[in-house]
Amino acid sequence: MTIQGTRPTEPSFRDSVNIMYNRAADLMEISPGLRKKIQVCNSTYTVRFGVRLRGEIQTFVGYRSVHSEHMEPVKGGIRFDMSVSQDEVEALAALMTFKCALVEAPFGGSKGGLCVDPREYDEHEMELITRRFAYELIKRDLINPSQNVPAPDMGTSEREMAWMADQYARMATTDINARACVTGKPLNAGGIHGRVEATGRGVQYALREYFRHPEDVRRAGFEGKLDGKRVVVQGLGNVGYHAAKFLAQEDGARIVGIAERDGGLWNEAGIAVDHVREYMNETGGLKGFPEAEYITDGASLIEAECDILIPAALEGVVHLGNVDRIKAPLIIEAANGPITAGADERLRMRGTVVIPDLYANAGGVTVSYFEWVKNLSHIRFGRMQRRLDEGRQELIVNELDRLSSALGGTWSLSDDFKQRYLHGADELELVRSGLDDTMRVAYQSMREPWIEREDVTDLRTSAYMVAIDRVAQSYRAKGL
Ligand code: GLU
Repeated sequence: MTIQGTRPTEPSFRDSVNIMYNRAADLMEISPGLRKKIQVCNSTYTVRFGVRLRGEIQTFVGYRSVHSEHMEPVKGGIRFDMSVSQDEVEALAALMTFKCALVEAPFGGSKGGLCVDPREYDEHEMELITRRFAYELIKRDLINPSQNVPAPDMGTSEREMAWMADQYARMATTDINARACVTGKPLNAGGIHGRVEATGRGVQYALREYFRHPEDVRRAGFEGKLDGKRVVVQGLGNVGYHAAKFLAQEDGARIVGIAERDGGLWNEAGIAVDHVREYMNETGGLKGFPEAEYITDGASLIEAECDILIPAALEGVVHLGNVDRIKAPLIIEAANGPITAGADERLRMRGTVVIPDLYANAGGVTVSYFEWVKNLSHIRFGRMQRRLDEGRQELIVNELDRLSSALGGTWSLSDDFKQRYLHGADELELVRSGLDDTMRVAYQSMREPWIEREDVTDLRTSAYMVAIDRVAQSYRAKGL
């Protein structure tokens, strides 16, 4: 299948992922058989079901694809969108396998999708459709805490996850771990603090870590820090909004451009994303927003002059038709697959640094992992630390003091730190620090082949190599 239009013909999303995979595998020592096994998608289940709505039976088509079961459960979001197709779901499931391997979340890769436009239906109708889809998946163990654990994606949120979790609990009445059957649930239904912001937060932590490595920063042709960098965000959904907000409010980045479905906004002095979001909630679009210039052709902002481009919505937005006009020296893929294989090739030739999707947007699944663990352990994060008695507390404080003076006073602990250490950070703090740690460690392993090998000239290939190697090790350990 190919994407056609006025622009050059390009491989499908699924083929794009295969091209990227093969590029990395060519540079690795891996047997042809194992190489093929890791690449293929294990299975894709297609379901067509009817729901009676407004007096008529309407038929919906949905998919759940399992890419790799080298670890179980398999994990990945469920997307509700009219563009959902088998090709797309399979490409996204493959990305989940490599994403989880890269951040060492102990899951295989999966993804689901339903062809539906959620804006066409009211809440009650969406609940009927979602529950029916969930029912079909649960029947086939495609939603199950130990086998397949969905999460939100484009067009779905906490609301749909709560319906799916409830549907599972009704059908598996004796499963004590029922809550762990999906992640991204609302807090009062077994969710975890910080999951909604997690993917955007992960993008922020990824950029922070990138800017901690001067050699990597120079490869994009600039010096210095994240502070003051001009950023263009494409897509102000959950991921783009949180990434832009945190980068502006906490790291001093300047959001100069925002591209959305109905147009774009531009302001060299910086745009307050919170205001934009409020305005969009009130009016349904960007047009008329008073604090920036309105641009009718929002997509053209992808080509605007800036330091960092953050595609945070759909796949394939950077393609052979616009790649030569893109000016950002650094692109971070907050969305899955926003750069086609053809465009990726051109960017690599040109030396544009791309922080790839399988790393950049892994914050979501990382915090999903924390939620899943929390559900299985049946205890809130941080709760155990609160139980220390007085005597034990004193011992720990003394130990911390002894440690800090042994380090020659170069590392002194504030009272605030000691207090928080003793009383246990609350859940949000633990989630954020766990996510930060994960993103830092993953970046460091991802950059290794890129920095150390001359034949690895981009971070994406480097990331795939690390991920494929980990999946291969796990298959080898299983005896395959
Ligand atoms: N849908 C998100 C992704 O593409 C999150 C998946 C998850 O949390 O399982 O990574």
